[in-house]
Amino acid sequence: MRKDAVEAMLPFLSERYANPSGAHRLARDAHRAMDEARLVMAELLGAEPGEIIFTSGGTEGDNLAVFGRLDNVGGVAVCSAIEHHAVLEPVVSRGGRMVGVDARGCIDMDDLASKLDPQVTLVSVMTANNEIGVIADLNSIAELVRVRAPNAILHTDAVQAFPWLDIAAHCAPADMVTISAHKFGGPKGVGAVVLRDGTDVSPRQIGGGQERERRSGTQNVAGIVAMARAAQSTVDDRIRNLGAVAKRRDRLADGLISCIDGAVETGVVSTGHGPDRSMRTAGICHICIPGIESEALLFLAEQSGVFASAGASCASGAMEPSHVLEAMGVDRDLALGSIRFSIGYETTDDEIDLVLEVIPEAVGKLRRYSGESGGRRI
Ligand code: PLP
Repeated sequence: MRKDAVEAMLPFLSERYANPSGAHRLARDAHRAMDEARLVMAELLGAEPGEIIFTSGGTEGDNLAVFGRLDNVGGVAVCSAIEHHAVLEPVVSRGGRMVGVDARGCIDMDDLASKLDPQVTLVSVMTANNEIGVIADLNSIAELVRVRAPNAILHTDAVQAFPWLDIAAHCAPADMVTISAHKFGGPKGVGAVVLRDGTDVSPRQIGGGQERERRSGTQNVAGIVAMARAAQSTVDDRIRNLGAVAKRRDRLADGLISCIDGAVETGVVSTGHGPDRSMRTAGICHICIPGIESEALLFLAEQSGVFASAGASCASGAMEPSHVLEAMGVDRDLALGSIRFSIGYETTDDEIDLVLEVIPEAVGKLRRYSGESGGRRI
């Protein structure tokens, strides 16, 4: 968490602890703090304060979009094949339609057009992908949705996008936007949804009527206050330091690819002037390394103080490539060796140097073991 977000949060865990739904002075104080946080979030997300719903995070927001819309008006949901599971599973569970992506991870607009019709009531396309960082062209998507699916609302999962994009501008074409605080230095377990006025979505939680009857349950005041502080600091950082993060990402990706035989940056095409990363968020470096299994690489990396994520997961004992890489048509063997580095505003050049030292050495070690054991993938 950002230090200022922790500091903002602490009083609401102690002396300013009251329930914001109460009527007494302490309750009014908590309510006022929440109102101030709502104003900040509304400004940063390009919404009216009354259009903000505080939630428990990204999963709740994504579920609200799909189930809340279908429960309200029926019809069919459509989403991209590279959505986070918090969108994907609800859409699949209600028999929705899936839209393919190309080798870069960009929405296949012809496929999207073919999946839209007046029966469709919700389209969900993430603003930026959590594994490869590809950014969606929401303007073109919204235009197509309005023409082909006039009964649909457009939801976007902007959970990964918030640190890197001006959400107010980028997500303006969407009727509903989901964010989660822990992706930008806020606490885990708190988030927000923008639900534009006039968008018909049923609540998933009913009871006490909080959040203007759209999400019942006592609000997480400390989390909400900390989220607003983290959001403001993140946007300030973005304005000052986005270029520096992108440069570090470029140095990391270029460095790894030049030191590791056969490594490729996932979905990034090369132009005459070098790799085209213009449609990527600055904070993700995702590469695939042939002949290794990412879990083994992560284990070695961790021992040297480098913490990263695999783009594959271990389902029922066997490594499975991620659904994102599968949808992009990445070769299975390559996909099993995928690894994602997340870079933040506080990442230093020395940390990038450390990764550039540790990862090629670990890959060399794994390849040597593999050679000694008859080419078996390790
Ligand atoms: N959507 C995306 C793109 C994510 O990356 C995540 C979390 O990693 C979520 C949704 C779920 O958010 P939460 O963990 O806050 O429920």
